[in-house]
Amino acid sequence: MPEDCIFCQIVAGDIPSRTVYEDDSVLAFLDANPLAPGHTLVIPKAHHERLNDTPADVAGEVLSTVHELVPAVEGAVDAPASTVAFNNGEEAGQEVPHVHAHIVPRFAEDGGRP
Ligand code: 5GP
Ligand code: ZN
Repeated sequence: MPEDCIFCQIVAGDIPSRTVYEDDSVLAFLDANPLAPGHTLVIPKAHHERLNDTPADVAGEVLSTVHELVPAVEGAVDAPASTVAFNNGEEAGQEVPHVHAHIVPRFAEDGGRP
C-alpha cells in the first residue's frame, strides 16, 4: 500500500473513520466533510488509483456494495434520493487517488442538480 494514501491508512486502521459496511475486499465509511448527512464513501481495500486502474472484479465488488448500500444510506437519513458518483481523475475533481464511490443523500430542497 502507498504509505501516503489516506484511504489505505483508513483501511489499515491508522486513521479513524466511521465504518458503514466492511467485508474482505470493500470498506464503506462516512465522508469526513459530508455534502449531506449520511454522505458515504465506498472503496476497495486494495489500492487502485482510479477506475481505469481497477480490475473488473474489484470494480464489480465496489459497485455491488454501492447497490446494496444506496437504500440503506437513504433510509438512514430519510432521504428520498441520492447522487452516486465517482470523480475519476484529478481533472474531474478526484482529490484522493484511491478509487472511491460517493453516495450522497439528496433531499427535495437540493433542487435536483449535482
Ligand atoms: P474526491 O474529491 O477525491 O472524489 O473525494 C474525496 C473525499 O474524501 C472528500 O469528499 C473528502 O471529504 C473525503 N476525505 C478526505 N480525507 C478524508 C479522511 O481522512 N476521512 C474521511 N472519512 N473522508 C475523507
Ligand atoms: Zn490507497
